[in-house]
Amino acid sequence: MLTLNGLVLRERSLKDNDKFLDILTDTHGLIEVCAKGVKKPGSKNASVSQAFCYAKYCLSDTGGRYYLNSAEPIRTFFELSGDMEKFALASYFSEVLLYIATQEKPNNEVLRLILNCLHFLCLGNRPILLLKSIFELRLMSETGYTPNLIGCCECYAYTSDDMQFDMKNGRMFCGHCIGPRDLADYYPLDVNLLHYLRYIALTDMERLFSIKVRKEYLGNLNEITERYCELRLEKQFNTLNFFKELINGK
Ligand SMILES: [Zn+2]
Repeated sequence: MLTLNGLVLRERSLKDNDKFLDILTDTHGLIEVCAKGVKKPGSKNASVSQAFCYAKYCLSDTGGRYYLNSAEPIRTFFELSGDMEKFALASYFSEVLLYIATQEKPNNEVLRLILNCLHFLCLGNRPILLLKSIFELRLMSETGYTPNLIGCCECYAYTSDDMQFDMKNGRMFCGHCIGPRDLADYYPLDVNLLHYLRYIALTDMERLFSIKVRKEYLGNLNEITERYCELRLEKQFNTLNFFKELINGK
C-alpha cells in the first residue's frame, strides 16, 4: 500500500466504468493509476478521479501498476470548468507537465508551482496572462532551464538600455556585445521586463505570486516566456493554441 499526495493532470476513460489517471505526485513523480469502477453512479472515488483534483491517494502497487483504493480530497479545482479561459489555461499547464514530468522523479517545486497557479487561477485576483508567464518561466527554472539573467553573457553588465534576450539559449547580450546577428529569436528587454523575468525565474516560491506587473507589459512578458518555453522544450502544445484563440477572440 502506498499513500501519496497528488494532482490529477488527466483522466482517460476506459471500458467497464474504469479510468486511467495521470497523477503528478509528491513522492513518485508522474504516475499512471488505474481507477476501477469510478464512472459508476455513486462510486466513492468518483470525484477524486477527475482532472484537477488534488488529494491524498491511497494506492496499491500490483506488478508495477498502480490501482486506486481510496482518496481524501485536499483541494479540488473543479470550479475551473465553469470558465472557458481558465479551463483552457489549466489544460495547457497539464499538457506541458504531462510532456516533461517523469515517473520516479519527484519535483516538489513543480508540484507547488502548479498548485499555486491553479489556486490563483480559481481565485481570479491575478491577471490570467501573468499566471501563464509565471508558470512557463518558473517551470523552466525548476526543471533545469533557468535562463542566465544575471547580466550580459559577455561583459556581465547587469543592466543596459538595449539588452537583448536570446530566447533560444536563455542568455542576454547588452547593446555593446550583441554585434551584427539575426535577431529572430531575440527579444529586447527594457529595465522593467528584465526585472520581471529575474523575479519570476529567481525569487523564492513564497514571494513568487506577489509580483506586480504593469498591465502594458503583460503582452511582452507572455511573448517571451511562451517562446522561451517552446524553444527549450522544442514542442508546440495544442491546448496553448486553443487558449490563444479564446483570448484573441475576445
Ligand atoms: Zn555586454
